[in-house]
Amino acid sequence: MKNKEYLREDYAKTLKFFSKGKDSPEIPGNSEAIEKYRKLSGLKETDFFYDAFLKAKSTIPEKEKKPVAGYFCNTVPEELLLACGVHPVRLCSADSHCAECGEEAIPGDICPMVKAACGDFFHDFNRMMDLLIIPATCDGRVKLAEILSPVAKDIYFIDIPRNTDYLENVNIWEKEYTKFFDYLKSKFKVKPARREILDACVQTNERTRMYRKIYEARAKKPGIMNAFDYFIMANSSFFLSPAEWTEKASLLYREISGREQEPGRKKILLAGSPVVFPNFKILDILGDAGCCVSADVVCSAYGRLYDPVEIDEETESGIIRALSLKYVAPSICPCFVGIDKLINTVLDSVERYGLDGVIYYNIRLCQVFEMASGVLRSVLKDRDIPFLFLKTDFSKEDTGQLKTRVEAFMEMLG
Ligand code: SF4
Ligand code: SF4
Repeated sequence: MKNKEYLREDYAKTLKFFSKGKDSPEIPGNSEAIEKYRKLSGLKETDFFYDAFLKAKSTIPEKEKKPVAGYFCNTVPEELLLACGVHPVRLCSADSHCAECGEEAIPGDICPMVKAACGDFFHDFNRMMDLLIIPATCDGRVKLAEILSPVAKDIYFIDIPRNTDYLENVNIWEKEYTKFFDYLKSKFKVKPARREILDACVQTNERTRMYRKIYEARAKKPGIMNAFDYFIMANSSFFLSPAEWTEKASLLYREISGREQEPGRKKILLAGSPVVFPNFKILDILGDAGCCVSADVVCSAYGRLYDPVEIDEETESGIIRALSLKYVAPSICPCFVGIDKLINTVLDSVERYGLDGVIYYNIRLCQVFEMASGVLRSVLKDRDIPFLFLKTDFSKEDTGQLKTRVEAFMEMLG
Protein backbone atom coordinates (compact mmCIF):
# COMPACT_ATOMS: atom_id res chain seq x y z
CA MET A 1 0.00 0.00 0.00
CA LYS A 2 1.46 3.35 -0.97
CA ASN A 3 1.84 6.23 1.42
CA LYS A 4 0.13 8.41 -1.13
CA GLU A 5 -0.97 8.04 -4.73
CA TYR A 6 0.57 10.80 -6.81
CA LEU A 7 -1.64 9.86 -9.74
CA ARG A 8 -5.19 8.56 -9.40
CA GLU A 9 -5.22 4.78 -9.61
CA ASP A 10 -7.55 4.58 -12.60
CA TYR A 11 -5.46 7.17 -14.48
CA ALA A 12 -2.22 5.41 -13.56
CA LYS A 13 -3.62 2.13 -14.92
CA THR A 14 -3.89 3.67 -18.37
CA LEU A 15 -0.11 4.24 -18.46
CA LYS A 16 1.09 1.06 -20.11
CA PHE A 17 4.73 1.92 -20.79
CA PHE A 18 6.07 0.37 -17.60
CA SER A 19 4.03 -2.80 -17.83
CA LYS A 20 5.22 -4.33 -21.05
CA GLY A 21 6.61 -7.46 -19.41
CA LYS A 22 8.92 -9.35 -21.73
CA ASP A 23 8.64 -6.61 -24.37
CA SER A 24 10.20 -4.02 -22.05
CA PRO A 25 13.17 -2.32 -23.69
CA GLU A 26 16.53 -3.81 -22.83
CA ILE A 27 18.94 -1.32 -21.30
CA PRO A 28 22.49 -2.37 -22.16
CA GLY A 29 25.06 -2.30 -19.35
CA ASN A 30 27.97 0.12 -19.24
CA SER A 31 30.86 -2.28 -19.01
CA GLU A 32 32.42 -0.98 -22.24
CA ALA A 33 32.50 2.59 -20.94
CA ILE A 34 33.87 1.42 -17.59
CA GLU A 35 36.73 -0.41 -19.27
CA LYS A 36 37.45 2.53 -21.58
CA TYR A 37 37.94 4.92 -18.65
CA ARG A 38 39.67 2.35 -16.48
CA LYS A 39 42.33 1.99 -19.20
CA LEU A 40 42.95 5.75 -19.15
CA SER A 41 43.57 5.73 -15.41
CA GLY A 42 47.14 5.52 -14.28
CA LEU A 43 46.02 4.79 -10.72
CA LYS A 44 45.73 1.48 -8.93
CA GLU A 45 43.21 2.49 -6.27
CA THR A 46 40.60 3.65 -8.80
CA ASP A 47 39.93 0.01 -9.69
CA PHE A 48 37.62 -0.38 -6.72
CA PHE A 49 35.39 2.49 -7.94
CA TYR A 50 35.22 1.18 -11.52
CA ASP A 51 34.34 -2.27 -10.21
CA ALA A 52 31.73 -0.77 -7.91
CA PHE A 53 29.97 0.70 -10.96
CA LEU A 54 30.08 -2.63 -12.75
CA LYS A 55 28.41 -4.37 -9.84
CA ALA A 56 26.21 -1.67 -8.30
CA LYS A 57 22.81 -2.71 -9.59
CA SER A 58 23.28 -6.40 -8.94
CA THR A 59 24.97 -6.34 -5.55
CA ILE A 60 23.37 -3.56 -3.50
CA PRO A 61 20.23 -5.42 -2.41
CA GLU A 62 22.17 -8.53 -1.41
CA LYS A 63 25.09 -6.70 0.20
CA GLU A 64 23.14 -4.17 2.18
CA LYS A 65 20.48 -6.53 3.57
CA LYS A 66 18.43 -3.52 4.53
CA PRO A 67 15.71 -1.44 2.89
CA VAL A 68 16.90 0.65 -0.03
CA ALA A 69 15.61 4.13 -0.84
CA GLY A 70 16.27 5.91 -4.12
CA TYR A 71 16.26 9.67 -4.38
CA PHE A 72 17.01 12.48 -6.80
CA CYS A 73 19.20 15.55 -6.42
CA ASN A 74 21.12 16.92 -3.48
CA THR A 75 18.48 18.04 -1.03
CA VAL A 76 17.51 14.71 0.50
CA PRO A 77 19.31 14.26 3.84
CA GLU A 78 21.01 10.87 3.57
CA GLU A 79 21.79 10.98 7.29
CA LEU A 80 18.12 10.54 8.22
CA LEU A 81 17.88 7.47 5.98
CA LEU A 82 21.08 5.99 7.41
CA ALA A 83 19.84 6.60 10.96
CA CYS A 84 16.70 4.61 10.11
CA GLY A 85 18.77 1.69 8.79
CA VAL A 86 17.92 2.46 5.15
CA HIS A 87 20.52 2.37 2.38
CA PRO A 88 20.31 5.57 0.27
CA VAL A 89 20.94 5.54 -3.49
CA ARG A 90 20.96 8.71 -5.54
CA LEU A 91 19.20 7.84 -8.79
CA CYS A 92 20.17 10.81 -11.00
CA SER A 93 20.89 9.10 -14.29
CA ALA A 94 22.59 10.28 -17.45
CA ASP A 95 22.45 7.07 -19.44
CA SER A 96 21.52 7.77 -23.07
CA HIS A 97 19.82 4.35 -23.37
CA CYS A 98 17.69 5.16 -20.32
CA ALA A 99 16.89 8.57 -21.83
CA GLU A 100 15.67 6.78 -24.97
CA CYS A 101 13.48 4.48 -22.89
CA GLY A 102 12.19 7.49 -20.99
CA GLU A 103 10.76 8.79 -24.25
CA GLU A 104 8.17 6.02 -24.02
CA ALA A 105 6.75 7.91 -21.08
CA ILE A 106 7.60 11.57 -21.59
CA PRO A 107 8.10 13.76 -24.67
CA GLY A 108 11.44 13.86 -26.48
CA ASP A 109 12.13 17.56 -25.98
CA ILE A 110 12.53 17.33 -22.20
CA CYS A 111 15.90 17.50 -20.43
CA PRO A 112 17.74 14.19 -21.07
CA MET A 113 18.51 13.84 -17.33
CA VAL A 114 14.79 13.78 -16.58
CA LYS A 115 14.12 11.32 -19.40
CA ALA A 116 17.00 9.11 -18.23
CA ALA A 117 15.72 9.14 -14.64
CA CYS A 118 12.36 8.00 -15.96
CA GLY A 119 13.78 5.38 -18.34
CA ASP A 120 15.95 3.98 -15.55
CA PHE A 121 12.73 2.64 -14.04
CA PHE A 122 12.65 -0.04 -16.71
CA HIS A 123 15.42 -1.58 -14.58
CA ASP A 124 14.28 -4.05 -11.92
CA PHE A 125 16.80 -2.42 -9.58
CA ASN A 126 14.89 0.86 -9.45
CA ARG A 127 11.51 -0.83 -9.23
CA MET A 128 12.50 -2.86 -6.21
CA MET A 129 13.43 0.26 -4.18
CA ASP A 130 11.39 0.34 -1.00
CA LEU A 131 10.96 4.05 -1.39
CA LEU A 132 11.53 6.77 -3.96
CA ILE A 133 12.13 10.28 -2.60
CA ILE A 134 11.58 13.24 -4.90
CA PRO A 135 12.54 16.74 -3.80
CA ALA A 136 11.05 19.87 -5.33
CA THR A 137 14.01 20.95 -7.43
CA CYS A 138 13.37 21.46 -11.14
CA ASP A 139 9.94 21.10 -12.75
CA GLY A 140 10.96 17.92 -14.57
CA ARG A 141 11.89 16.21 -11.29
CA VAL A 142 8.68 17.34 -9.66
CA LYS A 143 6.55 15.84 -12.43
CA LEU A 144 8.40 12.53 -12.09
CA ALA A 145 6.52 11.95 -8.82
CA GLU A 146 3.37 11.52 -10.89
CA ILE A 147 4.86 9.80 -13.92
CA LEU A 148 6.65 7.21 -11.77
CA SER A 149 3.69 6.71 -9.48
CA PRO A 150 2.46 3.54 -11.27
CA VAL A 151 5.83 1.82 -10.99
CA ALA A 152 7.54 3.01 -7.79
CA LYS A 153 6.63 1.01 -4.70
CA ASP A 154 6.24 4.13 -2.62
CA ILE A 155 7.00 7.81 -3.20
CA TYR A 156 7.75 10.60 -0.78
CA PHE A 157 7.83 14.18 -2.01
CA ILE A 158 9.94 16.78 -0.18
CA ASP A 159 8.54 20.22 -0.78
CA ILE A 160 11.10 22.85 0.13
CA PRO A 161 10.91 26.50 -0.90
CA ARG A 162 13.08 27.49 -3.84
CA ASN A 163 14.89 30.12 -1.89
CA THR A 164 18.16 29.38 -0.15
CA ASP A 165 18.06 32.43 2.11
CA TYR A 166 18.54 30.52 5.33
CA LEU A 167 17.49 33.34 7.59
CA GLU A 168 14.09 33.27 5.92
CA ASN A 169 13.66 29.57 5.34
CA VAL A 170 15.50 27.44 7.86
CA ASN A 171 12.34 26.96 9.91
CA ILE A 172 10.45 25.69 6.85
CA TRP A 173 13.26 23.28 5.88
CA GLU A 174 13.50 22.04 9.44
CA LYS A 175 9.76 21.37 9.47
CA GLU A 176 9.90 19.52 6.12
CA TYR A 177 12.86 17.39 7.24
CA THR A 178 11.18 16.62 10.58
CA LYS A 179 8.06 15.50 8.71
CA PHE A 180 10.24 13.37 6.45
CA PHE A 181 12.03 11.80 9.44
CA ASP A 182 8.71 11.02 11.13
CA TYR A 183 7.53 9.42 7.91
CA LEU A 184 10.69 7.26 7.68
CA LYS A 185 10.33 6.15 11.30
CA SER A 186 6.76 5.11 10.75
CA LYS A 187 7.32 3.48 7.33
CA PHE A 188 10.32 1.43 8.43
CA LYS A 189 9.00 0.90 11.97
CA VAL A 190 12.13 2.18 13.70
CA LYS A 191 12.85 4.58 16.51
CA PRO A 192 16.42 5.74 15.95
CA ALA A 193 18.12 7.08 19.04
CA ARG A 194 19.84 10.45 18.92
CA ARG A 195 23.15 8.56 18.93
CA GLU A 196 22.24 6.86 15.64
CA ILE A 197 21.51 10.16 13.90
CA LEU A 198 24.78 11.57 15.23
CA ASP A 199 26.64 8.47 13.98
CA ALA A 200 25.15 8.96 10.52
CA CYS A 201 26.38 12.57 10.55
CA VAL A 202 29.84 11.41 11.61
CA GLN A 203 29.90 9.01 8.64
CA THR A 204 28.99 11.64 6.06
CA ASN A 205 31.34 14.15 7.69
CA GLU A 206 34.20 11.66 7.39
CA ARG A 207 33.33 11.29 3.73
CA THR A 208 33.38 15.06 3.31
CA ARG A 209 36.73 15.32 5.09
CA MET A 210 38.29 12.79 2.72
CA TYR A 211 36.64 14.30 -0.33
CA ARG A 212 38.01 17.74 0.55
CA LYS A 213 41.54 16.37 0.79
CA ILE A 214 41.26 14.88 -2.69
CA TYR A 215 39.62 18.02 -4.05
CA GLU A 216 42.43 20.22 -2.67
CA ALA A 217 45.16 17.89 -3.91
CA ARG A 218 43.77 17.89 -7.47
CA ALA A 219 43.27 21.63 -7.49
CA LYS A 220 46.80 22.31 -6.33
CA LYS A 221 48.60 19.71 -8.43
CA PRO A 222 47.01 19.51 -11.90
CA GLY A 223 47.12 16.14 -13.60
CA ILE A 224 47.60 13.94 -10.51
CA MET A 225 44.20 12.35 -11.15
CA ASN A 226 42.28 12.59 -14.41
CA ALA A 227 38.71 13.91 -14.56
CA PHE A 228 37.24 10.49 -15.41
CA ASP A 229 38.70 8.93 -12.26
CA TYR A 230 37.57 11.89 -10.20
CA PHE A 231 33.95 11.78 -11.39
CA ILE A 232 33.79 7.97 -11.16
CA MET A 233 34.97 8.30 -7.56
CA ALA A 234 32.51 11.13 -6.76
CA ASN A 235 29.56 9.50 -8.58
CA SER A 236 30.13 6.19 -6.79
CA SER A 237 29.14 7.96 -3.57
CA PHE A 238 25.61 7.91 -5.07
CA PHE A 239 25.31 4.24 -4.12
CA LEU A 240 28.23 3.20 -1.87
CA SER A 241 27.78 3.53 1.88
CA PRO A 242 29.66 6.60 3.22
CA ALA A 243 31.93 4.37 5.31
CA GLU A 244 32.97 2.15 2.40
CA TRP A 245 33.46 5.14 0.10
CA THR A 246 35.65 6.92 2.65
CA GLU A 247 37.79 3.86 3.28
CA LYS A 248 38.53 3.35 -0.43
CA ALA A 249 38.89 7.08 -1.15
CA SER A 250 41.52 7.35 1.57
CA LEU A 251 43.63 4.72 -0.24
CA LEU A 252 43.22 6.69 -3.44
CA TYR A 253 44.21 9.89 -1.65
CA ARG A 254 47.37 8.22 -0.40
CA GLU A 255 48.22 7.14 -3.94
CA ILE A 256 47.66 10.55 -5.57
CA SER A 257 49.48 12.38 -2.77
CA GLY A 258 52.72 10.73 -3.88
CA ARG A 259 52.33 12.00 -7.45
CA GLU A 260 53.89 15.04 -9.04
CA GLN A 261 51.82 17.55 -10.99
CA GLU A 262 52.08 17.67 -14.77
CA PRO A 263 54.06 20.82 -15.59
CA GLY A 264 52.62 23.53 -17.83
CA ARG A 265 48.96 22.45 -17.56
CA LYS A 266 46.32 25.16 -17.46
CA LYS A 267 43.87 24.70 -14.60
CA ILE A 268 40.18 24.82 -15.48
CA LEU A 269 37.07 24.98 -13.31
CA LEU A 270 34.11 23.03 -14.67
CA ALA A 271 30.74 24.42 -13.58
CA GLY A 272 27.13 23.91 -14.62
CA SER A 273 25.04 20.81 -15.28
CA PRO A 274 25.71 17.59 -13.38
CA VAL A 275 28.37 15.26 -14.80
CA VAL A 276 27.04 11.76 -14.23
CA PHE A 277 28.45 8.46 -15.52
CA PRO A 278 28.10 7.13 -18.22
CA ASN A 279 27.53 10.50 -19.89
CA PHE A 280 31.14 11.67 -19.72
CA LYS A 281 30.85 13.31 -23.15
CA ILE A 282 31.94 16.70 -21.81
CA LEU A 283 34.95 15.13 -20.08
CA ASP A 284 35.89 13.26 -23.28
CA ILE A 285 35.82 16.53 -25.23
CA LEU A 286 37.82 18.45 -22.62
CA GLY A 287 40.35 15.62 -22.30
CA ASP A 288 40.80 15.37 -26.10
CA ALA A 289 41.39 19.12 -26.26
CA GLY A 290 44.13 18.89 -23.61
CA CYS A 291 42.07 20.64 -20.94
CA CYS A 292 42.79 19.73 -17.33
CA VAL A 293 39.73 19.96 -15.07
CA SER A 294 41.23 20.89 -11.71
CA ALA A 295 38.11 21.88 -9.80
CA ASP A 296 34.36 21.77 -10.29
CA VAL A 297 31.17 23.37 -9.13
CA VAL A 298 28.62 20.74 -10.18
CA CYS A 299 26.02 18.96 -8.11
CA SER A 300 27.33 15.46 -8.85
CA ALA A 301 30.72 16.06 -7.17
CA TYR A 302 31.58 19.29 -5.31
CA GLY A 303 27.95 20.27 -4.68
CA ARG A 304 27.25 16.85 -3.22
CA LEU A 305 30.32 16.15 -1.14
CA TYR A 306 31.92 19.39 -0.06
CA ASP A 307 29.65 20.60 2.77
CA PRO A 308 29.73 19.01 6.23
CA VAL A 309 26.93 18.84 8.83
CA GLU A 310 27.83 21.35 11.53
CA ILE A 311 25.88 20.58 14.67
CA ASP A 312 25.59 23.24 17.36
CA GLU A 313 23.01 21.51 19.50
CA GLU A 314 22.95 17.72 19.79
CA THR A 315 19.20 17.38 20.16
CA GLU A 316 17.10 15.74 17.42
CA SER A 317 15.75 19.10 16.31
CA GLY A 318 19.24 20.66 16.52
CA ILE A 319 20.62 17.95 14.23
CA ILE A 320 17.74 18.33 11.78
CA ARG A 321 18.34 22.07 11.70
CA ALA A 322 22.03 21.45 11.00
CA LEU A 323 21.06 19.09 8.16
CA SER A 324 18.88 21.75 6.55
CA LEU A 325 21.81 24.13 6.71
CA LYS A 326 24.03 21.51 5.08
CA TYR A 327 21.67 20.54 2.27
CA VAL A 328 19.75 23.65 1.32
CA ALA A 329 21.55 26.81 2.47
CA PRO A 330 24.74 26.30 0.39
CA SER A 331 22.97 24.71 -2.60
CA ILE A 332 24.42 25.67 -5.96
CA CYS A 333 21.50 24.05 -7.79
CA PRO A 334 20.08 26.64 -10.21
CA CYS A 335 16.54 25.60 -9.29
CA PHE A 336 16.91 27.69 -6.14
CA VAL A 337 17.10 31.42 -5.83
CA GLY A 338 20.77 31.98 -5.09
CA ILE A 339 22.77 32.56 -8.25
CA ASP A 340 25.08 34.73 -6.13
CA LYS A 341 26.07 31.54 -4.27
CA LEU A 342 27.14 29.87 -7.50
CA ILE A 343 29.06 32.97 -8.54
CA ASN A 344 30.73 33.32 -5.12
CA THR A 345 31.77 29.66 -5.20
CA VAL A 346 33.21 30.00 -8.70
CA LEU A 347 35.10 33.22 -7.86
CA ASP A 348 36.35 31.79 -4.60
CA SER A 349 37.68 28.63 -6.31
CA VAL A 350 39.36 30.61 -9.11
CA GLU A 351 41.13 32.78 -6.58
CA ARG A 352 41.98 30.10 -4.03
CA TYR A 353 43.46 27.63 -6.50
CA GLY A 354 44.82 30.08 -9.08
CA LEU A 355 42.62 28.66 -11.83
CA ASP A 356 43.11 29.85 -15.40
CA GLY A 357 39.54 29.78 -16.70
CA VAL A 358 35.97 28.58 -16.26
CA ILE A 359 34.02 26.26 -18.55
CA TYR A 360 30.27 26.26 -17.99
CA TYR A 361 28.51 23.16 -19.22
CA ASN A 362 24.81 23.23 -20.00
CA ILE A 363 22.74 20.16 -20.78
CA ARG A 364 20.52 21.16 -23.69
CA LEU A 365 16.87 21.74 -22.74
CA CYS A 366 17.73 22.70 -19.18
CA GLN A 367 16.57 26.27 -18.92
CA VAL A 368 17.64 26.96 -15.34
CA PHE A 369 21.30 26.30 -16.08
CA GLU A 370 21.16 28.23 -19.32
CA MET A 371 19.58 31.27 -17.70
CA ALA A 372 22.19 31.30 -14.91
CA SER A 373 25.02 31.29 -17.46
CA GLY A 374 24.45 34.90 -18.60
CA VAL A 375 24.96 36.40 -15.14
CA LEU A 376 28.02 34.26 -14.49
CA ARG A 377 29.52 35.23 -17.85
CA SER A 378 28.98 38.91 -17.15
CA VAL A 379 30.57 38.80 -13.66
CA LEU A 380 33.58 36.81 -14.89
CA LYS A 381 34.07 39.14 -17.87
CA ASP A 382 34.06 42.08 -15.49
CA ARG A 383 36.91 40.42 -13.59
CA ASP A 384 38.85 39.32 -16.72
CA ILE A 385 38.39 35.64 -15.95
CA PRO A 386 38.27 33.62 -19.20
CA PHE A 387 34.90 31.90 -19.66
CA LEU A 388 33.55 29.35 -22.15
CA PHE A 389 29.92 28.27 -22.42
CA LEU A 390 29.22 24.82 -23.88
CA LYS A 391 25.70 23.57 -24.54
CA THR A 392 25.15 20.00 -25.59
CA ASP A 393 23.07 16.84 -25.13
CA PHE A 394 23.94 13.13 -24.86
CA SER A 395 24.39 12.59 -28.65
CA LYS A 396 27.76 12.52 -30.38
CA GLU A 397 26.95 14.76 -33.37
CA ASP A 398 28.43 18.02 -32.12
CA THR A 399 31.56 16.48 -30.57
CA GLY A 400 33.99 17.76 -33.24
CA GLN A 401 32.62 21.27 -33.16
CA LEU A 402 32.75 21.47 -29.35
CA LYS A 403 36.29 20.14 -29.31
CA THR A 404 37.36 22.88 -31.75
CA ARG A 405 35.86 25.52 -29.45
CA VAL A 406 37.62 24.10 -26.39
CA GLU A 407 40.94 23.94 -28.28
CA ALA A 408 40.54 27.60 -29.28
CA PHE A 409 39.79 28.49 -25.66
CA MET A 410 42.87 26.62 -24.43
CA GLU A 411 45.00 28.34 -27.06
CA MET A 412 43.70 31.72 -25.93
CA LEU A 413 44.80 30.88 -22.37
CA GLY A 414 48.31 30.48 -23.78
S1 SF4 B 1 21.29 20.63 -10.67
FE1 SF4 B 1 19.70 20.62 -9.10
S2 SF4 B 1 17.92 19.70 -10.10
FE2 SF4 B 1 19.68 19.25 -11.41
S3 SF4 B 1 20.35 17.23 -10.65
FE3 SF4 B 1 21.52 18.75 -9.54
S4 SF4 B 1 20.44 19.09 -7.61
FE4 SF4 B 1 19.03 18.09 -9.08
S1 SF4 C 1 19.71 19.33 -15.90
FE1 SF4 C 1 18.18 20.93 -15.49
S2 SF4 C 1 16.18 20.18 -16.24
FE2 SF4 C 1 17.64 18.48 -16.13
S3 SF4 C 1 17.26 17.52 -14.16
FE3 SF4 C 1 18.94 18.99 -13.84
S4 SF4 C 1 18.00 20.94 -13.30
FE4 SF4 C 1 16.38 19.57 -14.09
